[in-house]
Amino acid sequence: MILNEFDIKELAGWLRKSGESPFRARQIFKWLWQKGESDPLSFTDLPMALREKLTSQFEIGRVKVVEAFRSGDGSVKFLIELLDGEKVESVFIPEADRKTVCVSSQVGCPLRCAFCATGLMGFTRNLKAWEIAGQVLVIRKHLGLERVTNVVFMGMGEPFLNTEETLRAVRILNEPWGLGIGARKITLSTVGIITGIRKLLAFDKQVKLALSLHTAIQEKREKLVPIARQYPVSALKEALIDYYERTRRRITVEYVHLPEINDTDEDVEALGEFLNGMKAKINLIPFNPHPKLPFRPPAEDEVKAFLEKLYRLPHAVTLRKSKGRDVRGACGQLAIERI
Ligand code: SF4
Repeated sequence: MILNEFDIKELAGWLRKSGESPFRARQIFKWLWQKGESDPLSFTDLPMALREKLTSQFEIGRVKVVEAFRSGDGSVKFLIELLDGEKVESVFIPEADRKTVCVSSQVGCPLRCAFCATGLMGFTRNLKAWEIAGQVLVIRKHLGLERVTNVVFMGMGEPFLNTEETLRAVRILNEPWGLGIGARKITLSTVGIITGIRKLLAFDKQVKLALSLHTAIQEKREKLVPIARQYPVSALKEALIDYYERTRRRITVEYVHLPEINDTDEDVEALGEFLNGMKAKINLIPFNPHPKLPFRPPAEDEVKAFLEKLYRLPHAVTLRKSKGRDVRGACGQLAIERI
């Protein structure tokens, strides 16, 4: 059994059943998630008998850094190995006011979005919560950081195809017994899995929601994001309006700029209609090239021209300066090099 697969209530329950004080759960989690210790014998504030019991009954699940690729812009892409030898990628993105880790939630991804390198890998398996949160812990340790301030679920995989473990991971990242990262500093990014958006409504943490939209024109979206056939733009809009009305939280719309494909006047008009009735921030991401993907990145004047059109919409618009492009750690470029 893996000790850090438990959440705090489950661990307290196990302690009670084993004749131990449930309040020890908090101490154990501090060692596991704050100090990042992997040997229960070194949990010095626990009685030796309990340390031995933990050692004999549990394994501590840790992911490990296999390689780190440093980009000229300060970001670092990590190749991370899981206990079964599978690998995922995570990216550390330092900025003046924040230190963000972009985590993976699946090994590969089954959704095959047309502009995404991860989709080309196919899908192997979902990650467990401790494997997701473990990416943040291991990166923090590797870089000797005091803390990570933000986490985005924008690495490999679609978090809402692995909703239960994703939400458990959010709990570990957020709770004071875990990594203590503010809920509003955690962003879940989805291509529009409506069932996941609905589950998020029932979740007690006020995390941010990002939607990878890329176009609000149904036929075009089906080509770029094939899962749009199952979750059409019209149903997605309904779900987001409902989300916005119930939470009053602004939604971030991620929009990968594919020149001459999704930057037409029609696209801008459809986007405006789609966002009507909610508060949104549009984050434009110039496409990051990849040798196996059939798109070109936009030229600077194309980005400028598209931004001018987007500025006419009554929403905030930002341009994401891609980090880590030189080490293929930028958005849409994550793929273990076996494809
Ligand atoms: S963009 Fe996201 S959902 Fe689409 S294939 Fe890539 S990882 Fe999967």
